[in-house]
Amino acid sequence: HHVYDVVIVGGGTAGIAAAASLLKRHPRLEIAVVEPSANHYYQPGWTLVGAGLMPYEQTHRPMIQVLPDDVIWYQQRVRTIAPRRRWIALGSGQQLQYRVLIIAMGLTLNWKGIEGLEETLGSNGVSSNYMPELSPYTWQNIQALTTGRALFTQPLETIKCAGAPQKTMYLACDHWRKAGVLSNVDVHFHNSRASLFGIDAFVPVLSKYLEHYGISHHSQEELVAVDGTHRQAFFRYQGDQGLREYEARFDMLHVVPPQCAPALISDCGLADSGGWLDVDPGTLQHTYFPTIFGIGDVCGTGNAKTAAAVRAQMPVVTDNVLAVLRGAMPKQKYDGYGACPLTVEHGRVVLAEFDYSGELQPSLPQWLVGSTEPSRLAWWVKTQLMPRYYWNGLLKGRKRLL
Ligand code: FAD
Repeated sequence: HHVYDVVIVGGGTAGIAAAASLLKRHPRLEIAVVEPSANHYYQPGWTLVGAGLMPYEQTHRPMIQVLPDDVIWYQQRVRTIAPRRRWIALGSGQQLQYRVLIIAMGLTLNWKGIEGLEETLGSNGVSSNYMPELSPYTWQNIQALTTGRALFTQPLETIKCAGAPQKTMYLACDHWRKAGVLSNVDVHFHNSRASLFGIDAFVPVLSKYLEHYGISHHSQEELVAVDGTHRQAFFRYQGDQGLREYEARFDMLHVVPPQCAPALISDCGLADSGGWLDVDPGTLQHTYFPTIFGIGDVCGTGNAKTAAAVRAQMPVVTDNVLAVLRGAMPKQKYDGYGACPLTVEHGRVVLAEFDYSGELQPSLPQWLVGSTEPSRLAWWVKTQLMPRYYWNGLLKGRKRLL
């Protein structure tokens, strides 16, 4: 039976970065990537597409173009993982054996978690930058709205890029402000969470922008259903006498869907109590199965689920996987770095960068920009540098930005 040195589940940001980085260090490794999608997506670009700042076409490339030359691609879905026997089964039934398995299958978007949403997404003013192909519709809705009510939502669960629900809202408001119609648009942020942002240091600056644009912030209110044809959204909140629901009319609605770990992880006995891949937060090695590693959104680690985190995890996973392949102990440790470029207005970004402890980890020179301040340099990083670095750096296994 053939045994691959490394099998990687998923050819998203984390899977491709890991494959490229391993091959850079060790060109002779035999690596298989299992990924059903014909396209690879640059998801951070969808915030820009949704604000008319990037064409949708620049956010995806054929998978075959981003896969490193020397990997074997199985264009299939992984159906089972048998961690004790070190094989995985594909949708076709074929089994692949591995010496080390890297799980990089991202997270699951639960569109069905909001009643009526799927039926109306992409019409009736209902959009989401979380779905490929729908971000251009977000921009259409923003441009079309000159008066009325715009609602933006954020679910309760951990989501990828926690700032994304607000980023699109601020860019929309800034567009309406410039077009001179902001005072005619009634903007509401329905946030299932108690706080605006997980790291307290960024709350004051975001609150200032809420005020600047005149946005009403409804915290601890969860979107539970949408009636697209009647343009009604239904929200649930904890009232004094138990759970309460109310409906709100909208002209445009931007939804961020509930998100969870892929069911496969718990089905195969690899999950922590939350259903996420149970890895050591430092080494990213699985807690019970030393030949399994995790990278990216699928991991049950407390970092911000972002491509920026993948950038920091990549060299750690590479080094530790190579150690296990030679029979050594994994030594490298990930510190939980993640970053969220908050596009608070056109031309300025608050670059939120922090680690597991919530400690700020600014990478821009502090004499130039304060770590919680909106800056033009950070806007340039987000809109110009990052897309280039993504395709030509991260996906080629390079950690350095320049
Ligand atoms: P993904 O890139 O989602 O890849 C997972 C892959 O696994 C997919 O290709 C999928 O097809 C595959 N897969 C799933 N199930 C299976 C299976 N059973 N078998 C085989 N393959 C499977 N990050 C930032 O750093 N900065 C930002 O500004 C930013 N903005 C964002 C804005 C939006 C709107 C969104 C949606 C995300 C944003 N992110 C941002 C987050 C970033 O895109 C993700 O954190 C990153 O893509 C995670 O990489 P991943 O490989 O873990 O998951």
